[in-house]
Amino acid sequence: MKDEILVDGSMGEGGGQILRAALALSMSLGRPFRMKNIRAGRPSPGLKRQHLACVRAAGELCGAEVAGDEMASRELRFAPGPLRAGEYHFAVGGGGSATLLLQAVLPPLLTADTPSRITVTGGTHVPCAPPFEFMAGTLLPWLERMGPRLAATMSRPGYMQIGGGSVTVSVTPAKALVFGTDFAEAAKNEPGPTLETEALVYAHHLPDEIAKRECAALLSPEFAALGLSDSSICVINGRNGGPRPEGAGNAVLVKLRHRHGITVFGETGLRGRSAETVAGHAACRALRFRNSNAPVEKHLADQLVVPLALAGGGSFVTETLTPHCRACLDVASLFTSLKPELHPVNGRKTLVTLR
Ligand code: ATP
Repeated sequence: MKDEILVDGSMGEGGGQILRAALALSMSLGRPFRMKNIRAGRPSPGLKRQHLACVRAAGELCGAEVAGDEMASRELRFAPGPLRAGEYHFAVGGGGSATLLLQAVLPPLLTADTPSRITVTGGTHVPCAPPFEFMAGTLLPWLERMGPRLAATMSRPGYMQIGGGSVTVSVTPAKALVFGTDFAEAAKNEPGPTLETEALVYAHHLPDEIAKRECAALLSPEFAALGLSDSSICVINGRNGGPRPEGAGNAVLVKLRHRHGITVFGETGLRGRSAETVAGHAACRALRFRNSNAPVEKHLADQLVVPLALAGGGSFVTETLTPHCRACLDVASLFTSLKPELHPVNGRKTLVTLR
């Protein structure tokens, strides 16, 4: 196909991120692409159910011509048609991540002609994906700094395997995404002291012991610097109100409020991972971020690359540069004329610029 962009899915760490970034950029810019070696860096390469759900959702939003959209497919062609904003319901199936599907389809809607309301059923707190609170509390406010108005609600949590959670995002689009003063100032300046710390412990259909041990771990002397107390930790188990998910699941979220907003650090419970480890990971990551004094958390960094590319470029300082972020920068430079520049800042922090 003429003007088709060739994306090699094996570049960088060769994961699903490359596909979602390509879908988002393709829909936003109206540029077709062919992707080979999909998820070549993963033990089970090719499209899995959650990636296929992203391709199908993207295809529906813009009436795309799609080939290769099958389970385990290692090659995909995607030719977007005109974007149709509006009301959509997508299902990821099983515990596939609802927030990762939104990662693929939200960027073009941020500058659509009319508003949208997207509901996705699937996992809301699953491993290796943004937990709902991160998307709603951290990512969306950063995107709002570029112009659109966004709101997210979760009507039910969903965990790995069974899923069944439900998330809705409402988008009031902007004319264009802008890397303006508000974004630029927050993206380069230190977040300063923590103004408030809170934690959420999700523990549905599980013995009380698990949440108790996670709360104790969060309050242990090791994490005293976070300043958590009994009253700043909320246990959500369905017995004190709130919707109950279909299956058992556990997640710990630590939320730091600072002058740039809220940064959320989430970790999900897994069979064989102790309650102390789950809570300890979330707390350690929060402490590491705080000590770095960088404005942009490492997961947020890769999720800002596509919107920044659509804004025509920009920059941010992140606590540490991940392979996910590098992969998104590489995909962005395939779809646009922007080139990534990386500069170390005081040791571990990195200034990421798309120019
Ligand atoms: P694969 O199975 O190929 O690894 P995937 O589709 O599951 O692919 P990744 O390529 O690993 O996904 O990308 C995961 C995405 O989820 C990245 O954008 C990453 O920043 C985000 N993410 C993972 N964990 C968290 C977390 N705790 N908080 C916020 N975002 C997260």
